[in-house]
Amino acid sequence: MTHSIPSLTGFTEHHGEWFAEGVSLSALANQYGTPLYVYSKHAICTAYRAYDVACIRANGSRRARIHYAVKANSNLAVLDELKQLGAGFDLVSGGELARALHVGADPKSMVFAGVGKSSDEIKFALSVGVKCINVESIPELQRINSIAKSLGLRAPVSLRVNPDVDAQTHPYISTGLKDNKFGIAYFEVLKTYREAALLPHIDIVGIDCHIGSQITSTSPYLDALDKVLDLIDQLKRDGIVIHHLDLGGGLGIDYGSDAPPDITEFTNTLLNRVDERGFGHLDVILEPGRSLVGNAGVLLTQVEYLKTGADKNFCIVNAAMNDLMRPALYDAYHAIVPIKSGIGKAITYDVVGPVCESGDWLGKDRALAVQEGDVLAILSAGAYGFVMASNYNTRGRPAEVMVDGDQAYLVRERESVNSLFANERTIGPS
Ligand code: PLP
Repeated sequence: MTHSIPSLTGFTEHHGEWFAEGVSLSALANQYGTPLYVYSKHAICTAYRAYDVACIRANGSRRARIHYAVKANSNLAVLDELKQLGAGFDLVSGGELARALHVGADPKSMVFAGVGKSSDEIKFALSVGVKCINVESIPELQRINSIAKSLGLRAPVSLRVNPDVDAQTHPYISTGLKDNKFGIAYFEVLKTYREAALLPHIDIVGIDCHIGSQITSTSPYLDALDKVLDLIDQLKRDGIVIHHLDLGGGLGIDYGSDAPPDITEFTNTLLNRVDERGFGHLDVILEPGRSLVGNAGVLLTQVEYLKTGADKNFCIVNAAMNDLMRPALYDAYHAIVPIKSGIGKAITYDVVGPVCESGDWLGKDRALAVQEGDVLAILSAGAYGFVMASNYNTRGRPAEVMVDGDQAYLVRERESVNSLFANERTIGPS
């Protein structure tokens, strides 16, 4: 497959040098060191506004709301920015809920999802008064009912439908097939709603579905949407009223060879189908993650060594699979560019990290004109980058910086090695 540099907002190249908005990436690498995640505030705002314009009707009324999927990038500065733009939040853990509360988000703008919520997480979500809990199984529904009873309240819930639709994406990020662990099987949804309606501490408020991530075609969404709208129709006949329809997230981004639909066009297509089928009165929720932040971030890394192997050349850099897991996990492609164009002939390298795993690679067969000490930018790293980082090999996670115009802000310190074992204890002599 041939790849090119994805078209980016917020990151540009001028005369061979890369910038995040008005700040050169070299200046950031010098000031904060590498590996370093760099985010562009402008890129996040632009992507958010592309959704938002489609969410407002010509008469100014709102026909859909954006609940940012925090799992994509949960840095507080990112959450705060999106909150200021008007986003609600889609959360999948008590930790994410705590983050959203920390930036002052209104619990009524939050939906709490996830296939394995603990009792403590359910209690936390209900006590702060989230808009809705998306329920993924009958045992979970029963648990929510009894926790709500103990708190003396009624829990607002949606059922997450597994529509059995193929999102045509990587199998690890497909969630709407009947083999996936997510959601309630399509054939069981009506029965489950009827059971939910009989539970005294459950308030049915909506219906939810999410079919996968990095989806580059609108058609699987329309298939899932039609199936969910059919269910709402049937529920109405049973006297069960649905107030909101949550269509999940999952819209893909261009990593260099992908052609996802334009965000505004995509949103219009879905919302028009909702209107055409007579459901325009429903409050619609979209939960994008990657398409808001994925192309708003890069990972900077410095070349440590250039090594000639028997069959391959290796460009060994100081970022690794623990910093950006997507290549090792999904065989994912990220474009990699020198932040200042080098002199000399490009050589084909595998770009690899220092971690002791052959799976520790960031890019394969990349033509690069680089020298030791040069800094590379791994593009499209704003989503599922830092959030998936680990401390494997006792490596501190990178610092994160957000750029706004010609100002850069350190929004997370680099982790020190001492902090990695601060919570550990030896057991002493035996
Ligand atoms: N909503 C739910 C329920 C999800 O599971 C996910 C991702 O897995 C998302 C939203 C966000 O998906 P994406 O980042 O692909 O937009």
